[in-house]
Amino acid sequence: MELRAALEEQKDRLGHCVHCGFCLPVCPTYIQLGDEADSPRGRLHLMRAVVEGRLEPESDAYQLHLDRCLGCRACETVCPSGVEYGFLLERARALAVEARRPPLPVRLLPALMARDGARSVALGMGRVIRGTGIPETMAGRLPTTGLWGRVGLAMGMLASSRPSRLDAGSDAGKAKTRPRNDPPSRGRVAMLTGCVQSGLFAHVNRATRTVLEANGWEVVEVTGQGCCGALHAHSGRLDQARELARVNVSAFTAAGVDHVISNAAGCGALLRESGELLEDEAAEAMAKSVRDISELLAGEGREPVRGAPLPLKVAYDPPCHLHHAQRVTTSPLRLLESIPELELVPIPGAEECCGGAGIYGITHQDLGGRVGRRKTDAILTTGCDVVATGNPGCQMQIGAGLLAAGERIRVVHPVELLAESYRRAGWS
Ligand code: SF4
Ligand code: SF4
Repeated sequence: MELRAALEEQKDRLGHCVHCGFCLPVCPTYIQLGDEADSPRGRLHLMRAVVEGRLEPESDAYQLHLDRCLGCRACETVCPSGVEYGFLLERARALAVEARRPPLPVRLLPALMARDGARSVALGMGRVIRGTGIPETMAGRLPTTGLWGRVGLAMGMLASSRPSRLDAGSDAGKAKTRPRNDPPSRGRVAMLTGCVQSGLFAHVNRATRTVLEANGWEVVEVTGQGCCGALHAHSGRLDQARELARVNVSAFTAAGVDHVISNAAGCGALLRESGELLEDEAAEAMAKSVRDISELLAGEGREPVRGAPLPLKVAYDPPCHLHHAQRVTTSPLRLLESIPELELVPIPGAEECCGGAGIYGITHQDLGGRVGRRKTDAILTTGCDVVATGNPGCQMQIGAGLLAAGERIRVVHPVELLAESYRRAGWS
């Protein structure tokens, strides 16, 4: 039993869990429900009960409370004992899925993402529907509950994946060429192009390449890469996640680059955990080379090349899998601060999950909606022009929430703002 083995490995740390409850006030499901069983401490208690044979993995309590977890890992950040909750959750979910088959919508998405052909068709259809403008028109006009509520959320998410026009200041849309000294060559990188990212957010991948090249990084094309497997790992399909991770480890290792770059927080976190997922040296070595795009440009004492002014009020929302899982907290802010005339406005409670978590809002309509509205309400207090966040799921979830609230605030990736600043300087 994999969970039993995982807990065995964690025994020391679990033994040190002082039941302090520090994790409770940061847990979005506990905040909403106030039920100990829907807190990190409560879920760890359920895992332990199963491992010790006091509870069956098919029991309603184990299934329900683990299923309600968003997997945001905010609990890990505050835990003084260093309990590796995310690692345990993946194994606990694997056990839950083995004990009881999940409903069709939960099975459908990981199955679709694991198959290249089916995924391309589904994402292609998504682009066609998005291109009609219908999702944007429908989002916010449908009832928020029941089946229509789910349709409305899906439409809002699709609408929020479209490329955004950034109207800021009198220079909007004009490219003013100004000379730029070629940056020193820094090395070679490969980019994880991703599945949802390449299917619905190709513009973010293009912006990522633009900013990498403008900052002196040679971007190497890596064919043979595929879906990272994060959705599969998070939903308890560890075998599928391992299969997908093996493909990527082999493709990126063969590329012989200095760094593997991710612009999607969930995918980056999974790549970084490839070593412990596959338990082999090649995966460990590849995992060590992984960087989020913001780290490569604005981490470790680096500063991005400065482009043209972009006078926008920007609210940065840190994706959980960047902030809590990868612990990349300051470089996205430094990247945004490097853009002249861009004003950063803080979101109250920014480190709290937006409720994205894959298709959580569709599978947990009420709870996901409550978590999402808390985020939308917090964003609306900032008076921002644009929201920036580095994960496709968060872009879609927050975008859908804003559309549902009747707001037309765009949600973009931080590199889109940097690329726009470079475009206005006439460099791309
Ligand atoms: S914060 Fe860590 S030590 Fe404290 S109750 Fe939560 S899991 Fe246990
Ligand atoms: S991962 Fe997030 S939702 Fe799950 S227990 Fe931890 S804080 Fe709560």
